[in-house]
Amino acid sequence: MFELTDDQRALREAAREFAEREVRPRAIDLDRQGQYPAEILGELGDRRWTGLTLSEAYGGKGGSLVDLVVLVEELSAALMPVASALALHLGVATVVERFGTGEQRERWLPEMARFETVGALGLSEEHAGSDKSGMETTATKVGDEWLLDGHKRWVTNYLDGDEVLVYARDDPEAPFPDGVTAFLVPTAEFDVEEVWDTMGARPVKSPKVRLDGVRVADDRRIGPVGGAYRQRSTLSTGVNVPARGVGIARAALEDTVAYTAEREQGGSAIGDRQGVRWRAGEMAMRVETARLLTFRAAALADRGEDHRHEFAMAKVAATEAAVENANEAMQLHGGIGYTTEKHVERYLRDARLLTLAGGPNEGHRDTLGETTFERYRRER
Ligand SMILES: Cc1cc2nc3c(=O)[nH]c(=O)nc-3n(C[C@H](O)[C@H](O)[C@H](O)COP(=O)(O)OP(=O)(O)OC[C@H]3O[C@@H](n4cnc5c(N)ncnc54)[C@H](O)[C@@H]3O)c2cc1C
Repeated sequence: MFELTDDQRALREAAREFAEREVRPRAIDLDRQGQYPAEILGELGDRRWTGLTLSEAYGGKGGSLVDLVVLVEELSAALMPVASALALHLGVATVVERFGTGEQRERWLPEMARFETVGALGLSEEHAGSDKSGMETTATKVGDEWLLDGHKRWVTNYLDGDEVLVYARDDPEAPFPDGVTAFLVPTAEFDVEEVWDTMGARPVKSPKVRLDGVRVADDRRIGPVGGAYRQRSTLSTGVNVPARGVGIARAALEDTVAYTAEREQGGSAIGDRQGVRWRAGEMAMRVETARLLTFRAAALADRGEDHRHEFAMAKVAATEAAVENANEAMQLHGGIGYTTEKHVERYLRDARLLTLAGGPNEGHRDTLGETTFERYRRER
């Protein structure tokens, strides 16, 4: 059975209180205006939650991935893109902590823990989406420096960020995933090519940016030459994606229970109808299944155990729970749910991102199929 520790319960209470007080009341306006939640993220930085899983030696909180799941659920329940911004940033900082040198950790992590230096991930490209082997950005060693050429797209946090963790091919002939090296590149070195207007996740933009002959000193290389993509597969920070799904799915459920208990039609609350109550029960079942799967994947990752099976399940179940619950919430709110007066139309738009980002669910289903055949194969 999975149980949170007392410290994790305290973190959940503090994060929920913060999200309810500081995030949720501003969520509709930030979404409508497509405005970066800089102030909120600054406050998260003051609490060093933006460095939650970094070690205390570098200004972090020394937290686990289960702690990250706890925090991300609460933030996402209030405004999903706040959780995205924090998680993408922390993912970059984690790469610096895990694979950087002592000097690089000293240089970047204390400011990253406080969100004074903001990280963004430059991995995806036009031909490197769900399959990153199509990566075309190159890194060429010239003397003591590297010359970076190419583009990155969907760089969340870029517009308000400071450093992009760029993955580039140092040896395009090497069989992928070899021949990929990572660098921290200041945002000022890029040209912005496209800032997309998106269906959801509107407060935190994810633009397409170019690197044209950008010179990067070797002391900005994070990890070994040629081995950076292989190293990525040992990270488990991706648990933030299902955790974001759990947050939206829960918020959709809570709003639905509150609204249907109040809203009367035909002489009684619509929440008194069996047809509605059964649906609310299904919504709760999705939330709790998704949460347990996500905690289990994070707990296995924290213990250093193989969690490919559990993670794939969590990613698919939690992100689809978010879409289904948001859709149900809209239906059960009726017309008012279709307006921006309520949060539910945003839940649906934000949830829709999660099944296709962080690797589309089809790819995670491929993994799940593979691990299922490994795990359940018995001689009969
Ligand atoms: C708002 C937003 C923010 C993002 N933030 C970042 C970021 O900060 N940094 C970053 O590096 N990337 C980021 N991404 C990129 C994201 O991870 C990619 O969009 C994702 O990996 C999918 O790549 P793609 O969009 O090119 O889709 P494609 O790879 O072109 O896939 C398109 C569709 O094909 C189907 N498909 C793909 N593979 C399979 C398969 N194996 N089997 C069956 N069907 C399949 C799926 O339905 C999939 O949705 C972001 C994306 C978005 C939209």
